[in-house]
Amino acid sequence: MKKYPKDQFFDENLNAQRNWDEYILKTAKEEAQKDPHPHLPIDQFIEDNTIPSFSTEEEEEEDFTTELWYSNDSFLNTIMLHFIDNVDEKTRHELRKFFIGKLGPQKSPNAEARNRKPEIDEGYLITYNFTLDFGISRLTEVYASYIHYKGHIGEYKKQLGELLLNNYMMLFNLEKFNPAYKRNLPLHIQEQYNESSYKHYFGATAFVVAHEIGHHLLKHTVVKEDSMMITYKNDFIDMIGTNIDHEYEFAADDFAVDFFLKDKRYELYNKERKIDLNYLTSPLYVMLALALDTNDPTAVDGDHPPIRDRYLKLLSKLSNYCTEGEIKLLKEIFRDIVQGIQDMYKPWIKVWWE
Ligand SMILES: [Zn+2]
Repeated sequence: MKKYPKDQFFDENLNAQRNWDEYILKTAKEEAQKDPHPHLPIDQFIEDNTIPSFSTEEEEEEDFTTELWYSNDSFLNTIMLHFIDNVDEKTRHELRKFFIGKLGPQKSPNAEARNRKPEIDEGYLITYNFTLDFGISRLTEVYASYIHYKGHIGEYKKQLGELLLNNYMMLFNLEKFNPAYKRNLPLHIQEQYNESSYKHYFGATAFVVAHEIGHHLLKHTVVKEDSMMITYKNDFIDMIGTNIDHEYEFAADDFAVDFFLKDKRYELYNKERKIDLNYLTSPLYVMLALALDTNDPTAVDGDHPPIRDRYLKLLSKLSNYCTEGEIKLLKEIFRDIVQGIQDMYKPWIKVWWE
């Protein structure tokens, strides 16, 4: 009997959500009725928590999100559909056998490419937890408010600074969230902000998914029935590299950058066919989301390569896709943001981002 990845996911996670979008809306409504946020009417909450759409007209006509085929989360499903749309026929055939199961909150941010036995497993299972998704989305807000604050010359500088500070505070204390900072900005600035945060969030999530696809397609996850691999202490390979040679992690990062940057979307977004920097820089913030889970991102943790090493390798990989000036800018923005977090919360025992 062949096993399908979607069935495997729901068999192993009996309480997993069938549809995350419905679940989030339902929970948000219930909580808002029970305990109304002091500044935030429920309709506004839902609007603020709905990712603004940024797609071309053709994409909207196709209405990607109606059926959840590749994931129990519509955004992850959309990312898979984009990938499927942008690869060669052979890869497309494999991608159609993927399922990304989104799990609830866990102690640490994590995504995993699950080991598979080709004679039994029909497809490829990836799991992605809410904790990683949430970390990435909070950092996206910090990033978007940082670049708008820095780049703005004019009368809204002070408000943008307050928005940035509020987003920094939200990283560690959600209670501090005050949507007024964003909503009081003029509409055209809000729109620009939403556009950069959408691209950044899309890019970071696409990078995570592409990294796990990489583990599968590079055959890091293949387990033979009679192989010694079966005696390994864990039966998965994860985003932070449990149970795998460092080389596998670096290889999956490399694969992911190439995979998610080979995307027709640039031609739609940007007539010069340059890669949008909001998108290009996003993998670095995945490293930052992981770094927020440790006090020393320079340390080897069991079989995990240090996050700092992955960060440095990613920077050099990304530099293949842009100019020297652009990579310098991305580096400066990243360092500023990380330094800001360190100044406010001191989560790290040493400087790891230089
Ligand atoms: Zn990995």
